[in-house]
Amino acid sequence: MVDQLLQAYHDSPTSGHLGVNKTWHKIRDRYFWPGMYTKIKEYVLSCTKCRQFKIGRTKPAGKLEPTEPPTGILDLIGLDFIGPVPQSANGNKYILVCTDYLSRYAITQATANCTAETAAKFLVTKVILQYGVPKQLLTDRGTHFMSHVFEAIASRCGVNHITTTTYHPQCNGLTERFNATLVGSIGTYVNQQQSDWDDYLPYATFAYNTAKQSTTQMEPFKLMYGRDALLSFDTPRPITQPPTINDYYNQLNQFLQQAKSTVWYNIKQ
Ligand SMILES: [Zn+2]
Repeated sequence: MVDQLLQAYHDSPTSGHLGVNKTWHKIRDRYFWPGMYTKIKEYVLSCTKCRQFKIGRTKPAGKLEPTEPPTGILDLIGLDFIGPVPQSANGNKYILVCTDYLSRYAITQATANCTAETAAKFLVTKVILQYGVPKQLLTDRGTHFMSHVFEAIASRCGVNHITTTTYHPQCNGLTERFNATLVGSIGTYVNQQQSDWDDYLPYATFAYNTAKQSTTQMEPFKLMYGRDALLSFDTPRPITQPPTINDYYNQLNQFLQQAKSTVWYNIKQ
């Protein structure tokens, strides 16, 4: 099954052609065969699509980040536009990215422009109405985020909007690193004209959210929802019945408390 597994957890759109470690973690959590790491490493490093599209990226010199990581999910989220990128057949030229600073969970959308209205609509419909109001929202000082429209909508929703200069000048590193992963992942699927990249954006986002994040050592999806995502190639889990609703709630609560403090510690390290 090895070839099938490698294809399912590396090549398929929901796996996103992610790197050696992310691919290894996904398979390791589900299967075992002797020498699997070496085989996975060879496979990923010799993947032609990865080699063709991924931008070689050496890690930038480490900067001390004195800021404490947030302690809760949605305590601090970042919002950022990527682009302009080549226009898709649907007329999209930008990607709006929202990242949670503790879980590293990402929410994305392809957009035709980078106006304040577009950013505000995304914040309301894709973030607040799906996940609740974030305590703090961090953006750069781009005109779309500094505009009256955006500020008015954010404050009416109860969001505390802070900008990179008031918070910390280097803190945009998080979205920048994610952007590189995302763009590299989408690049492996697009057609020659690069006109269908927005079709793959939701898949690439899912692939990222369900892969173990190197800083936190946990899947963003798992921290956000308190459970693993069942991936398309996974064997369905047997149906088990927890004794009582209270037991389930307690287990979930205990897991999330523990996971959040572990992740907080990992980020700080
Ligand atoms: Zn690949």
